[in-house]
Amino acid sequence: MKEVKPPKRPLAYYYGIVLLIIILFNIIGTPLMMREQVTEVRYSTFMKAIENQKIDEVQIEDNRIVFTEKDKNKVYETGIVEDPDLTQRLYDSGARFSKEIENTMSPLLSGLLSILLPLVIFIALGQYMSRKLTQQMGGKNALSFGMGKSNAKLYVQSTKGIRFSDVAGEDEAKENLAEIVDYLHDPDKYTEVGATMPRGVLLVGPPGTGKTMLAKAVAGESGVPFFSISGSEFVEMFVGMGASKVRDLFKQAKEKAPCIVFIDEIDAIGKKRNGNISGNDEREQTLNQLLTEMDGFDDNTGVIILAATNQPDSLDPALTRPGRFDRRVPVELPDLAGREAILKVHAKKIKMEGKIDFHAIARMASGASGAELANIINEAALRAVRNGRNAVIQEDLEESIEVVIAGYQKKNTVLSEHEKQVVAYHETGHALVAAMQSHSAPVQKITIIPRTSGALGYTMQVDQGDKYLLSKEEIENKIATFTGGRAAEEVVFGEITTGAANDIEQATKLARAMITRYGMSDQFDMVALETVNNQYLGGDTSLVCSADTQKEIDRRVVELVKQQHEKARKILEENREKLDQLAKVLYENETITGDEFMEILDEGSDGE
Ligand code: ADP
Ligand code: ZN
Repeated sequence: MKEVKPPKRPLAYYYGIVLLIIILFNIIGTPLMMREQVTEVRYSTFMKAIENQKIDEVQIEDNRIVFTEKDKNKVYETGIVEDPDLTQRLYDSGARFSKEIENTMSPLLSGLLSILLPLVIFIALGQYMSRKLTQQMGGKNALSFGMGKSNAKLYVQSTKGIRFSDVAGEDEAKENLAEIVDYLHDPDKYTEVGATMPRGVLLVGPPGTGKTMLAKAVAGESGVPFFSISGSEFVEMFVGMGASKVRDLFKQAKEKAPCIVFIDEIDAIGKKRNGNISGNDEREQTLNQLLTEMDGFDDNTGVIILAATNQPDSLDPALTRPGRFDRRVPVELPDLAGREAILKVHAKKIKMEGKIDFHAIARMASGASGAELANIINEAALRAVRNGRNAVIQEDLEESIEVVIAGYQKKNTVLSEHEKQVVAYHETGHALVAAMQSHSAPVQKITIIPRTSGALGYTMQVDQGDKYLLSKEEIENKIATFTGGRAAEEVVFGEITTGAANDIEQATKLARAMITRYGMSDQFDMVALETVNNQYLGGDTSLVCSADTQKEIDRRVVELVKQQHEKARKILEENREKLDQLAKVLYENETITGDEFMEILDEGSDGE
């Protein structure tokens, strides 16, 4: 809901009017002659004009004489010359003349104006800029002089009737939150026993897994108001503003209780305070205010605070201690069944045709978040429209997964014949190595159509189900599969290309994790040499070992990758005929499915 504010005439409007009046006053007060184009003439010309009685009006100023001639519209000026009887002669010629008075305005008024005018302009400008800024920041009071004083702002949001049934998968999270819904329906049941509800619930998980949706669903199920604000909205330009917003938010929430307050991205304000002098004062004050507010309300007031974050480890311990956000609900990436359910929920909104195999789509989209799955469905609908159909078919969904994973097909990339051959062999290499190792998942699809992501082709491997554990051998086989592309180039062309950059990165990551985190090397046994920093955001790691050990780790990683690369090459050399055969089919068709691939593979081995 938008901010509700009484309509107010902008202050700049009044300043504008004052300014206009001053300018008008100035213009009217100015002598007529000063407003027109003035021509400079010799003093002798002026004297002649007096003699000939042509002068109409004269104004004598401090440093010049300004005059007009009769029957002429022009204004002349001339310098001052020592001329004692000028006045007499002018009088005789019948000209009207006067000596200029210091200023057209009284000295007091003009002095006052010269001070006030810049001030007025300055203030008006300031007001204008603040208004501009406020508009850019989405209607929040930012620089206005009412700083620190909060406008009556409403944070209530419509939940548009979002229910738990709209959030697919995430059953554990829903179960956890159902208790809160129950409490909001019937608080007495809980107070009777003496139980208190947690004040704060922290929803923790990677981006796009439905944390916001879940919070809205809790409000929707309980039929209570939903207050929503993002952590980053608290962090303002001025110290104290964020804290005032927190106060404001809770004041409103308490008035509307029972209700849900949802703080998205709470890590923006809730980061660990590290006691640095150079710390962010504003953030700290905001956090302190939040802690105070959470302590401030009595148990069972009916205000439940839900917060979302994808960096739970970076939160200040004061925020996660009992009595504040004491309950943590993990909202993880969906598993296979979850993905299928999410796809089905979103598919309800679009028109479909024929038999749609959601299970297959869910299998292809391994590792995708709820938001990405929603996007896949939408991309499929867009593709259907693009192709002039009025319903989505299975092919649209399959293609849109590739779009989400690898980007759109790049129609105008022209590979040379040789390049295309290399790519075909490279991708076949991956697939063949994967298929030949018993533990590797079968290939779903191989294509050598360039994508906007820069990939010239890729091999889509598909797990049969979700895998929660990987054995050492399985990881080794994965590394071998990653090296399979490059190995094929070596075996067939005896040359190597840049096409393996991504494979190299992934193989190295796996090999390193085996040694530093999974304890899969003889030498280091079960010692952690690396810690994961951001579980939900990319999972970057930092080393926790001595420099000597680092050297040893590096050596081991190289050894491990080399070993698997060697293995991949051997597999390909032993299956050279099939490699050629498969690469040829791929080169000609540009895409082959997993089934076609296995068919070719099997038919060869049957004959031998
Ligand atoms: P988060 O807050 O975790 O970053 P959101 O709740 O904003 O993620 O989810 C973004 C979008 O992704 C939602 O609007 C919804 O369309 C889709 N989505 C994510 N998770 C789910 C889910 N479990 N079920 C259905 N849709 C989901
Ligand atoms: Zn590759």
